[in-house]
Parts: sequence; structure tokens; C-alpha cells
Amino acid sequence: MTGGVIIIGAGVSGLYAATLLEKAGVDYVILEARNRTGGRVLSSEVSGLYVDMGAAWFWPDIQTDFAQLIGQLGLSVIPQGRPGDLLYERYADTPAQRFPAYESSPASFRLKGGMQALTAALKRQVPAHKIKQGQQVKSIIRVEEGIEVLAQTEEGEEISYAGDHIFLALPPALAANIAFSPALPEALLSHWRKIPTWMAPHAKYVAVYSTDFLRAQRLSGDASSQTGPMVEIHDVSEPDSGKTVVFGFIGVPAKSRWTVSEERLKQFCREQLERLFGPDAAEPEAEFLKDWAADPFTATESDLLQEVGHTLPEQIPARGEWAGKITGIASEWSPQFSGYLAGAVDSASDGIQNWLNGSLSAR
Ligand SMILES: Cc1cc2nc3c(=O)[nH]c(=O)nc-3n(C[C@H](O)[C@H](O)[C@H](O)COP(=O)(O)OP(=O)(O)OC[C@H]3O[C@@H](n4cnc5c(N)ncnc54)[C@H](O)[C@@H]3O)c2cc1C
Repeated sequence: MTGGVIIIGAGVSGLYAATLLEKAGVDYVILEARNRTGGRVLSSEVSGLYVDMGAAWFWPDIQTDFAQLIGQLGLSVIPQGRPGDLLYERYADTPAQRFPAYESSPASFRLKGGMQALTAALKRQVPAHKIKQGQQVKSIIRVEEGIEVLAQTEEGEEISYAGDHIFLALPPALAANIAFSPALPEALLSHWRKIPTWMAPHAKYVAVYSTDFLRAQRLSGDASSQTGPMVEIHDVSEPDSGKTVVFGFIGVPAKSRWTVSEERLKQFCREQLERLFGPDAAEPEAEFLKDWAADPFTATESDLLQEVGHTLPEQIPARGEWAGKITGIASEWSPQFSGYLAGAVDSASDGIQNWLNGSLSAR
């Protein structure tokens, strides 16, 4: 394939970029290291109900382009939050305190069917053969005719792709692990390595219950805790489903939580939910734990060590052998919503639009 485009990463940014290239009639392929698409969007399923282990919320009042995309794709939204008090847990042996809930502003929303409804809708616009899953990009080489990309399958087989332009739809810290030939400036690589990947150090626990016990207790399902293991807990039930679904962010740093088994950590989470919400919360119908810090296709070692935050990564320098050949379009490259879903869409949209404008004017 010469003259085409290679997208590295099939998260929201890579999939959205593909839909734009598809509409523009450009030849492209997406190379994805995991055996699934979605990246930091991952919705686990239990009896037809999807619960988000990665991204869940968006804020339509400020993320207007993203909200417009959700509308265009015809996806149903759910306002975040249910009426009722919130809980504050200071000590494990003292009942949590109740406080009236506050209204979050700007208002946040989720997708019915989980955030996977977004990635599934984007994927439907991309012919299946254009997404190569289970292919981790290892090197990007400048060759006379253009660019050669070498990807490795899980079995260790090396596959080569040829193209004209590369869109890096993966976090900069992971892009820095790819071998570029000729090498990218060391200053750029070391800068990329230090860009925190948003939410990479986090782990999320979700419990699904077969009854709606929060309503009877007039609880919103929101809680914050100084005791843990979960420090921030929210209700993510589907309204009128008759079920309770709550999730929590584990507050224990990655390296400390790895000293206990996943089963034990889940047990601590269950016990915490029982302390907070009573005996009904003791036995979930289903539970899930996703530790993003342990996932090499999201987190790097430096994500575990540095402060979290949003730092805008630099793009490839405008001079030198790679000038005009590689564009970073993952969420972290978005000036407005770096790290967020809306950032992934904005960044992909800008990157593809600029490239299309440039490549059309060059013809
Ligand atoms: C726990 C959690 C909660 C979050 N909550 C929210 C939220 O509520 N709202 C919000 O707006 N955002 C949230 N986010 C952030 C949001 O998920 C991201 O902004 C968004 O999904 C990023 O999409 P992306 O395509 O830019 O990157 P990613 O989703 O990270 O996609 C990158 C892709 O590249 C692939 N890849 C990596 N290395 C290689 C390689 N060498 N070769 C080929 N492929 C490779 C990865 O497998 C992945 O599929 C959350 C994230 C997490 C982890």
C-alpha cells in the first residue's frame, strides 16, 4: 500500500480518524496492538447491561462538538446522578455521614449501553478489513518511497505496511517507545515519555446488583472515602432498570495495590460497599476490576511515578526528515480537552482536516 495513510491505535481518536478518511475516500489502515478496539473505552457486559471500566462521562455544555457527534450517531444519553444523599466515610469502624447531594456543574452524561456504544458506532463506519487487531507497531522507517511500518503479532510474526503519512492515535508516552528510523530528536522523545496519559495510573471497580436498594434508602450512590480502598464512588445504574450499579476509583497507588491479589482487592471493595450501603450491597450479581496501570497498551512506568495532569505534547518538528509525515492525534494532543474523549475527537478531527487540506493543495 503506497500513497495511503497508517493510523496507529484503534481507540476513539483512531476510529474517528478512520471514519473521516473513509468519508474523504482516502486509502488507510488502522494498526491496533490489542485484540480489541476502543483503547481506554472498555465496557464490560453482564446480561445485556454494559458497565464502563474506562471512560464513561462527557459534558455536553462545554464539549459541544463531541455532543454533536453523539447526536449524529443517534446514541441515547443518560444524565449522571440520581436523587438522594451522598455519603462521606472517614473511618472504617464509624458509620458514614450523610450529606445532601450537590448538583454537578457543568452537568455530565453517560451513554445508554456504555461508552462502547460510541466506539461500536464509529466502527460500523469502518470496513472490518481496514482494522488490523493484535498488531503492535514496533518501528516506523523512512524509506525512499514513503514510510514503512513494522508491526508484530502476538505470535511474534512481523508484518510490514507502507504508507505516506502516519497518524499516531496512541498516547505520546507509548509513541515514544516505537523505534523511528531515522530517530526522532531525543528531546522530543524524552518530552513525550513524560506526558502523563490521562487516567493511566487508575483502577476502577464496578459492582452490579439485582435490586435497586439505593432508591429505598434515598441515597444517590455517590460517596467519598478516606478509608478506601475506593476513594470516590458513583452510581451508574440505568434509570428504571431495577438494578443498582456503582463504581469506585481505587485510591491505593498501583504498586501498593499490586501487593494483594485481584480477588482480595475485590473483597475489600465489596466490604466497603456493604459498610456504606448496608447488607444489600454485600453480594453483587457481578463485579469487575480493571487496573489500567497494569495495562502496557495504556500505561508506562513513568505514569506510575509522576503527577497526573494535562500537558500538551509537542508535534513532530516542522523541519527534518519526518516533517509533515507524522501527526499526533490521540486525546493528549488536544489543546482544549487533552486526555478526555472530547479531546480524542477534536484532535483526530483537526489532524485529519489539516492533513486533507495540505494533501489536497499539494496535488
Ligand atoms: C479509568 C478511566 C476513566 C476515564 N474516564 C473518562 C471520562 O469519564 N470522560 C472522558 O472524557 N475521558 C475519560 N477517560 C479518558 C478517555 O478514555 C480517553 O481520553 C480516550 O479514550 C482516549 O482515546 P485515544 O484514542 O486518544 O487513546 P486510547 O484510547 O488510549 O487509544 C490508543 C490505542 O492505541 C493502541 N496502542 C498502544 N500502543 C500501540 C502500538 N505500539 N501499536 C498499535 N497500537 C497501539 C492501544 O491499544 C489503544 O487501543 C478515562 C480513562 C480511563 C482509563
